[in-house]
Amino acid sequence: MGTKEKGDKLKDSVKLYPHPEGRPRLLFADPAGRIYDHPELYALGLSGYDLVLPEAEEFIPLPEGSALYVLPDRHPVGLDPRTETPVALYENPFRPGEPAFAVAAFLAPAHTQLYLAPYEPAREDLSPLPLYSYACVGWWQGRFWATAFRSDWDIRQEARLFDPERLEAAAARKLAQYPRNRLVRHLVENCVQRYQCPAARNFVLGRFEAPIPVSPSCNARCLGCLSEQPATGPHVAQDRITFVPTPEEIAEAMGPHLKRPGPVMVSFGQGCEGDPLLQAKVIEKAIVLIRKVTSRGTINLNTNGSLPEALERLARAGLDSVRISLASAREYYHRAYFRSKGWGLEEVRESIRRMKRYRRFVSLNYFIFPGFTDEREELEALSEILALGVDFLQLRNFAIEPLWFLEKIGYRPGESLGLRTFLKELRKRFPGLRFGYFNPYLR
Ligand code: SF4
Repeated sequence: MGTKEKGDKLKDSVKLYPHPEGRPRLLFADPAGRIYDHPELYALGLSGYDLVLPEAEEFIPLPEGSALYVLPDRHPVGLDPRTETPVALYENPFRPGEPAFAVAAFLAPAHTQLYLAPYEPAREDLSPLPLYSYACVGWWQGRFWATAFRSDWDIRQEARLFDPERLEAAAARKLAQYPRNRLVRHLVENCVQRYQCPAARNFVLGRFEAPIPVSPSCNARCLGCLSEQPATGPHVAQDRITFVPTPEEIAEAMGPHLKRPGPVMVSFGQGCEGDPLLQAKVIEKAIVLIRKVTSRGTINLNTNGSLPEALERLARAGLDSVRISLASAREYYHRAYFRSKGWGLEEVRESIRRMKRYRRFVSLNYFIFPGFTDEREELEALSEILALGVDFLQLRNFAIEPLWFLEKIGYRPGESLGLRTFLKELRKRFPGLRFGYFNPYLR
């Protein structure tokens, strides 16, 4: 299917989702975590620091596999329809005297948020929330509705595809098959059994995209790093890998994965590691070993894009695609988020150039933060990067507490276009650019 046809399919499919006929109500929670819908207040969205009343067509039924989160010590903000003004809800109207806390949706993979859940912190000294995304969600006529859209029709991480019994048996088989392979042990015991990582689950099930964590170290200190944080930072979601697998361990586990029928790929660069480019020599050898046993499947690398020379070596060795993470295309905000050690957007741009020189596929892992991402200045800065030949834009939800993030990067609001307008403009400027959520299969 051609790019244009895929784009049309996406637009048509968006219409398949029902929208609420009225205004979804505000959700709130009590300190025990029970969730209520407010009898009068409407759900509002947060866009940067602004409050927005979302259009009905911006809500879709909360996708299966999403989770609702209570935001402790953060009061929800809704719209009072009588006065048409936003109000913070400090108290549970059903149990006076008891505080009301905000509720947000962590969307299932393949869905991108349009607004965040607004809230007012109860105190100034709060620790940041864990590293999830916090999308706006409401209640209307018997169901939850989230402000989101489906950004990818790939099913590789759908919750319904992971049967716990089948997974347990497959994990035990993998351990028995590779008793001395430390990478397999890490993927099974940490990623599958502790963290329920969907990519690692697909590895043990022998299908789709398999993860290859390799690097215990990094050359950045991202505000939202999942695997390393200072004591005052957000809770670490995944312990970082403590060893570097050998090229032989990688090839032993991943060669057979790429020989499996159906669409398959392997990806270096995962949440439980630092940046894989710091282990480029190991990856280079692993790619060569894998390609000795099969030419099937895509070999991809997810990275911060900081080391163009290392990336070029990998392109020469046979890396098919790269996905570079981008919190912002603006230098000031990029540095404020990555807190990088000796590199910046120029290295990212050079990484893209080198990959394109070898005709390799380039995606951006673009962190979507409504109100911040869709600023006009960001559109211009992102357009410059896309013009280097980027093939694919992955619309990933920014997994970070919204107000904490804005404060930490020293955010100064600019002109926000709205995410839908922002994406429409990008489609117009870059007709060949593909949009989605996952790394695409290339062979
Ligand atoms: S680049 Fe990745 S591993 Fe390194 S600090 Fe940022 S999130 Fe963590």
